[in-house]
Amino acid sequence: MRFDPTEMDNLDADTLKEAAEEAHDKDSGEPYVTVYSLVESSDDLMAESNYSSALELLNAAAVWNDKDADEYVTDQPCRDWLFGNTRELRVLVYEEPNQCTWDECGTPAEVVVKSDVHEGGALCQWHADWITLGDPFDTGWTWERGEPVDANATVTPYEPEFSAAFKMAVVIAQHLRDYPFLDEDDYSEREWKAYEAVLTEAVEYAQRAYAEDSDSEVETIAQRFYEEGHHRDQWCRAEDVNWSEVADEYREIRDEHFTSQAQEIADELSARSLLVMDGRGYPGPGQLVLPGV
Ligand SMILES: [Zn+2]
Repeated sequence: MRFDPTEMDNLDADTLKEAAEEAHDKDSGEPYVTVYSLVESSDDLMAESNYSSALELLNAAAVWNDKDADEYVTDQPCRDWLFGNTRELRVLVYEEPNQCTWDECGTPAEVVVKSDVHEGGALCQWHADWITLGDPFDTGWTWERGEPVDANATVTPYEPEFSAAFKMAVVIAQHLRDYPFLDEDDYSEREWKAYEAVLTEAVEYAQRAYAEDSDSEVETIAQRFYEEGHHRDQWCRAEDVNWSEVADEYREIRDEHFTSQAQEIADELSARSLLVMDGRGYPGPGQLVLPGV
């Protein structure tokens, strides 16, 4: 199943709210949530591939929104007591700071108040009450309300706008619930590179047994190993590589190489001796006599 980034436009408000409640503690004042973490050097190619694909998708989503991607998406190295070096992908949940706009109140906004007294809009419940019901402290520290500051103010629930990066994170999470890869081509490429690296290492190890081979011999034999070896039909992942099979196969191909080379030399020598015997009498050793000369 191919990942479809345009799904972020089809997310309904309930899905987003639910995801935000699950991922984000609104009262914490922390505007970012961690959406993906990765243990470095775990050799988990799938996790690495998904992490890097997710980073790309989140950055792209943030840019679609015509903002600076760095503001919405962070890729941070962390240090984990249990796992050592980790990385964390974090995204900004809301497009605007999800806070009461009354002076420096800073508590989470809960309602939007349309009032001439305060044009900021999003307010915490206390400041909304202050405008619509009056200041409770007016009445001398009883909990009765005073006169409303603006009796005509309207109050609606605050529905914060989610950032595009957060929407993309939700789509990514939905995709990964049903399918292990974000980008299968990226994963295959990583898998293939890892396989090639291990195979090269195993071949270099096998070559150590033949220190007498010249550089050009080593190169020719290795090339034949990679192009003709029967491992090609059997292996495609790093964990497939069997070092003793590599050593055996390398030895066989090396033997074939030297046998065929010896055969070539023998053939050439016998061709020479045929020429020598070409009825031209007794040419000196090593002297080539061409037929008809
Ligand atoms: Zn407030």
